[in-house]
Amino acid sequence: MTTSQQVKQDEMQVVKDYVNEVYETVKKRNPNESEFHQAVKEIFDSLVPVFAKHPKYMDNGILERISEPERIITFRVPWVDDQGKVRVNRGFRVQFNSSIGPYKGGIRFHPSVNASIIKFLGFEQIFKNSLTGQPIGGGKGGSDFDPKGKSDGEIMRFTQSFMTELCKYIGPDIDVPAGDIGVGAREIGFMFGQYKRIRGGYEAGVLTGKGLEYGGSLTRTEATGYGTVYFVEEMLKDKGLSFEGSTVVISGSGNVAIYAIEKATQLGAKVVACSDSNGYIYDKDGINLETVKKLKEVERKRIQEYVKEHPQAEYYEGCSGIWSIPCDIALPCATQNEIDDVSAQILVTNGVKAVGEGANMPSTLEAIDVFLNNHILFGPAKAANAGGVAVSALEMAQNSMRLSWTFEEVDAKLHEIMTNIYRNSVKAAEEYGHPGNLVVGANIAGFIKVADAMMAQGII
Ligand code: NDP
Repeated sequence: MTTSQQVKQDEMQVVKDYVNEVYETVKKRNPNESEFHQAVKEIFDSLVPVFAKHPKYMDNGILERISEPERIITFRVPWVDDQGKVRVNRGFRVQFNSSIGPYKGGIRFHPSVNASIIKFLGFEQIFKNSLTGQPIGGGKGGSDFDPKGKSDGEIMRFTQSFMTELCKYIGPDIDVPAGDIGVGAREIGFMFGQYKRIRGGYEAGVLTGKGLEYGGSLTRTEATGYGTVYFVEEMLKDKGLSFEGSTVVISGSGNVAIYAIEKATQLGAKVVACSDSNGYIYDKDGINLETVKKLKEVERKRIQEYVKEHPQAEYYEGCSGIWSIPCDIALPCATQNEIDDVSAQILVTNGVKAVGEGANMPSTLEAIDVFLNNHILFGPAKAANAGGVAVSALEMAQNSMRLSWTFEEVDAKLHEIMTNIYRNSVKAAEEYGHPGNLVVGANIAGFIKVADAMMAQGII
């Protein structure tokens, strides 16, 4: 090794030690928050080459500041069920980073919600929102409320109680929530109504994912699923591949999964499986999307019911088995950590060519290593699923201008944004010495804009 190579290696070690030290502090300060630690670790590791090239970010404590939320709000959400019993849930809003715009990120209603889940999602959102190229900061919120099996009245009473507290902290130029797991058009409608009732005035831009009748944007419902497919299409194109004629497995059967199925099918793929938290269906003829939409969007039933209408399909209990179905393209669109290293290895052995994350952090760190070590095309969540928040920002723009774009106009903008995210991630990965690694590329491309904005605004 030459002297200059030795010096370079020593410098790199100093940066790695620094990054590790900050990571250990994050772990100590946020004990028992494994999902948050996982998200921080993935990003921190990617940023080593950035700090080596630009020590100014270390000198200005960017890592220490960016991993500490600007504000965390936790609150009681009391409500009364249909039997007249008083129930109490916990609400959260994490306002993580506002250096490039108002906080922006969804609300999740799911029994697994806790501080760790909301912080991991809020942290990821900072970089995702930056990647879209739009002026939006990072935030996330939710509650451990379980919407499953609740009546419309119970959903409304809970949601109104949630917003009664949340409305003190949000606004079109402050913090703009949207939907996520368990929060769709119905819940956004109830939240918007309660916000308006308490605050007065008509602040359309306070929430996104609204109904079309009261300020929503065309294509918002489809945006995350379509966007994920557009992103994967770009990855495939670079290798001379496409969705046409390929076999696809998509987990979940909620908002993201349904519209990923729709777009992949439109592009000529056969989607053979999807799931919910109880189990998965395999239909060798290709999933009938109309049946899935009816079951999930209208009747709110379990995916198991699908086989009653399509007897050639098979239903299996449990979630991870879906990854043992041979496919060319896998799109995890359900929830965090749904693909571990064992499932990843099965996908690789069965010949998967590309994986695109529609859900947030669906692959464990070990699973990502399996994909990257086997040179599988891998689209990480914060890049691949950014289409939802991108169209949310377009909804905010339309609300500010008091006009509505057509479906085709918004879809074209979404397509362009996803292509740009892909190109910028590829470019950053190459520039920082990890060609083809979109995990590193997306993290770096998202980070630099936020870091520069933080530097410009002083130590705050
Ligand atoms: P939905 O609530 O519409 O659907 C979620 C789907 O995932 C359902 O089929 C649900 O099954 C399944 N699911 C939820 N939890 C689990 C679990 N623990 N194990 C297995 N399956 C589970 O949510 P979305 O489609 O909106 O969100 C899906 C993912 O995409 C999430 O990670 C979300 O953060 C992410 N995302 C969503 C965006 C959006 O615009 N909606 C934007 C960007 C990311 P069941 O009905 O049985 O609970």
